[in-house]
Amino acid sequence: MLKMGEEKKEKLFNKKENGWNSVDENKKQEIFSLSKNYMEFLNKAKTEREFIKEARKLADNNGFRDIIEFETLKPGDKVYFINRDKSMYLAIIGEESIEKGMHIIGSHVDSPRLDLKPNPLYEDTGFAYFKTHYYGGIKKYQWTTIPLAIHGVIVKANGEKIEVNIGEDENDPIFTITDLLPHLAQEQMEKKLKDGIGGEDLNLLIGSIPYNDEKATEKVKLNILDILNKKYDITEIDLISSEIELVPAFRARSLGFDESMVAAYGQDDKVCAYTSLIAMMELKNVKNTAVCILSDKEEIGSMGNTGMESHMFDFFISEILNKLNVNCPNLLDKVFCFSKMLSSDVDAGFDPIYSSVSDKTNAGFLGNGIALVKYTGVRGKSGGSDANAEYVAWVRNVLEKNNIRYQLTELGKVDIGGGGTIAYILANKGTDVIDCGVPVLSMHAPYEVTSKYDIYSAYQTYKAFWKE
Ligand code: MN
Ligand code: MN
Repeated sequence: MLKMGEEKKEKLFNKKENGWNSVDENKKQEIFSLSKNYMEFLNKAKTEREFIKEARKLADNNGFRDIIEFETLKPGDKVYFINRDKSMYLAIIGEESIEKGMHIIGSHVDSPRLDLKPNPLYEDTGFAYFKTHYYGGIKKYQWTTIPLAIHGVIVKANGEKIEVNIGEDENDPIFTITDLLPHLAQEQMEKKLKDGIGGEDLNLLIGSIPYNDEKATEKVKLNILDILNKKYDITEIDLISSEIELVPAFRARSLGFDESMVAAYGQDDKVCAYTSLIAMMELKNVKNTAVCILSDKEEIGSMGNTGMESHMFDFFISEILNKLNVNCPNLLDKVFCFSKMLSSDVDAGFDPIYSSVSDKTNAGFLGNGIALVKYTGVRGKSGGSDANAEYVAWVRNVLEKNNIRYQLTELGKVDIGGGGTIAYILANKGTDVIDCGVPVLSMHAPYEVTSKYDIYSAYQTYKAFWKE
């Protein structure tokens, strides 16, 4: 009788199993090799601008060309459009009429960080600092006393653009934000964790040698400006037209004795951006037009002309319709209404140390494969994008017939918190969308953790979705 019960269980239960259990040595090498490339890419692409720059190189090397260069388009053509160096859309034209809809995968390449304020530079008691304004949802205390690198662009009034990247090379200096010693932190330690470090306390320490002139005031600031002037040919006012981001100076590394995980900054959402980009590079002919979105500004609500709410994406698809010579009134709306999308953004991984915030039956586990999140939102699914059962079934079928391990998850316990992605933006245009990404530990922290197994699952999922 016991045996019958086991057989029944085998047949009836939705088994949740650690993916590594079914990985042989060859598969493991494949999984590790993809993650190695991913980590190398991350080290070159910590900001949205750097990610798009690297993505363009990959695309150019794989037969993609700027859509501006095409007079007309035909099936098999590979095109991209780069939006203000911060977001990018790529497409491979499908064999099917585009009216039957596109297969879209959309991620974001911006990550939580500290931006410089417009007037960042000041001196106080022998030190020079940059003032910052944090970007995205961070726990501020995590950003003190770690090595930070300065990445970004300074654009002079004449349009000249200077790229800045200091703190990544072994020979570069790094920068840091100081914190109070425990001996004198009694008052600070009594505060709530969220108030321990204030937004205005996040000032970056950048120098301490005074300029060698007895009569000058603000000598440390002057010395810093003198260094910047010699290095970049800029003056203080040029900083007002800059976009400088402070990111952790850590490199992406394998994590654990078994090297099963990746620890790196910005994996939300560069893990999904990278795996979808790589999957697209390997695609040959597709039935439905395959579209890859690398969006910006997701972490602050997807607003602005590089965010997903912008009409720039509609412009790109309209250009495809124009150059296919099929465009007509309302065709853009029709194409969106018949399209399918994976909103490829990370999921909260179950963390046993903080198990109380998750419903274990519905949590995403590291190593269990790609996580599908049917709906997002807070409280009673408020503000959420909820995938239709019919579409979930369609996606399931793609995964199951390609033997890709997946898990259906929810972000934390009901009423504990919640979140969202770019899913609703395309869903509002009429597209079928489900969230589909890699579970992450310590999301939004300077160092985030993912499983190499899930990274590989994401890559397999995105490839299978486009090939469908
Ligand atoms: Mn994200
Ligand atoms: Mn995020």
